Amino acid sequence: MTKYIFTTGGVISSLGKGIASASIAKILESHKIKVSLMKLDPYINMDPGTMNPYQHGEVYVTEDGAETDLDLGHYERFTNARMTKFNNATTGQVYNAVLLRERRGDYLGQTIQVIPHITDEIKDRIKKAAQTSDADVLIVEIGGTVGDIESLPFLEAARQFRLDVGYNNTLYIHLTLIPYVRSAGEIKTKPTQHSVGKLREIGIQPDVLLCRTEKELSDDIKDKISLFCNVRREAVIEAPDAETIYEVPLIYNAQGLDKILLKHFGIKYKATDLKSWKTDVVQKILNPKHEVTIAVVGKYIGLQDAYKSIYESLTHAGIFNDTKVIIKRVDSEDVEKHGADKLLGGLSGILVPGGFGYRGIEGKIKAIKYAREHKIPFFGLCLGMQCAVIEFARNRCALKDANSTEFSPDTKNPVISLLDEQRGIKDMGGTMRLGIYPCEIKKGSTAYKAYGKEIVMERHRHRYEFNNKYRALMSKNGLIFSGIYPNKNLVEMVEVKDHPYFIAVQYHPEFKSKPDKPHPLFRDFIKAALKK
Ligand code: GLN
Repeated sequence: MTKYIFTTGGVISSLGKGIASASIAKILESHKIKVSLMKLDPYINMDPGTMNPYQHGEVYVTEDGAETDLDLGHYERFTNARMTKFNNATTGQVYNAVLLRERRGDYLGQTIQVIPHITDEIKDRIKKAAQTSDADVLIVEIGGTVGDIESLPFLEAARQFRLDVGYNNTLYIHLTLIPYVRSAGEIKTKPTQHSVGKLREIGIQPDVLLCRTEKELSDDIKDKISLFCNVRREAVIEAPDAETIYEVPLIYNAQGLDKILLKHFGIKYKATDLKSWKTDVVQKILNPKHEVTIAVVGKYIGLQDAYKSIYESLTHAGIFNDTKVIIKRVDSEDVEKHGADKLLGGLSGILVPGGFGYRGIEGKIKAIKYAREHKIPFFGLCLGMQCAVIEFARNRCALKDANSTEFSPDTKNPVISLLDEQRGIKDMGGTMRLGIYPCEIKKGSTAYKAYGKEIVMERHRHRYEFNNKYRALMSKNGLIFSGIYPNKNLVEMVEVKDHPYFIAVQYHPEFKSKPDKPHPLFRDFIKAALKK
């Protein structure tokens, strides 16, 4: 029977509930327990796919093509769990499912209410996530902060779960903040007391508290938190700011979190196996031998979360290469205004990420031209590949007006355009080319050297494609088409000849990189940057 852990957040948002949940999962996995994770998002959108990155951060794409919350990225990076569309549910999806059934007549005669209909739907989705992943333990992260109106049905469903499946099959973990008030020189427990009080009002008594704090918590403080929040003393876990997120499982476990979890679930304790995580991941990040600076030239540069998986993938590649990867976030509009030389001169590598819409495009194209001409290692992802193609067409194939029909619908030279099957689509949600597709790698290419195999599976999220009409011309001028989706003969990857590293891919390799298993293209990009 599956056991369930519910993680909630208190006091403020952005405490790192996703990383906490992923870390708990990592700890359990290190005990050879099969884990999976699920995120419940209280907003009304069906998924984050139609939201601006500034609203939501990165959209994480699963293998089965679901556009999901970025926390699912942490789940996959920290554990072996594979995320699918069943591992993320939003208020919008829950209500949509209930309302479709209501119209069909499934509830004839009844009044549809939050309790039990909405909460039942939430519970069914949680059970479905457990079933489809065949997990021994499912960790369910409830988005938002306790006290929000919109997360109430999710918390109510979590409360009911203990009634349904039993005390020892459910565990509630609350991530909270213990602020330090500088003027008083004191650590304050009151916000946490209030937050736990709020949870208890709903009927949830947390079993474990993870206390985010910038100062060390004294025994007295922990005693006080335990007493006032009605949580066993050993289950008051200190969660200090870590130097790297990958250290968090080690920090929790050093305080015996694994013992608490296993005891509660009645699972026999065997020693953990977090040693390689410590030596091969954490210590490598903390003690790198080399250093490189990579520019990420995008338009959502102001927000740490907008390119989450890319930043993490660069770190993973750094781990492999014993290198600290310093990321210089460059606004593509600034490159447009001030020129590439000023912003990108002297750097070891340039990465252009994915995106939508025309704003910032000309700056990205300038950055790519700079990387190509100055032989600076370059890596383009999705829109980054489309921009690389536009740049090459304009500057190497004399197609001055080359463009994507996304930015210039009437361009004479649409080197990037829509496939027929995308033309008629009116709905914007969930209608792009999404999820994994096979890609055939050309032997002898830089990509082949990296992957070491001919067929790779990679995740997609885009509408526009390389226009095959231009293949012969661009190939003649030195663009290498090193990755093809064979079923439809679509270009998935391009490279530039006589360049230390110039790869651009239509897909999103950043969704497959892990700290102990870097993505080969990121790994070799950093290797090339290091050489530079
Ligand atoms: N806007 C481009 C497209 O839809 C690229 C998308 C992306 O970078 N994810 O094809």
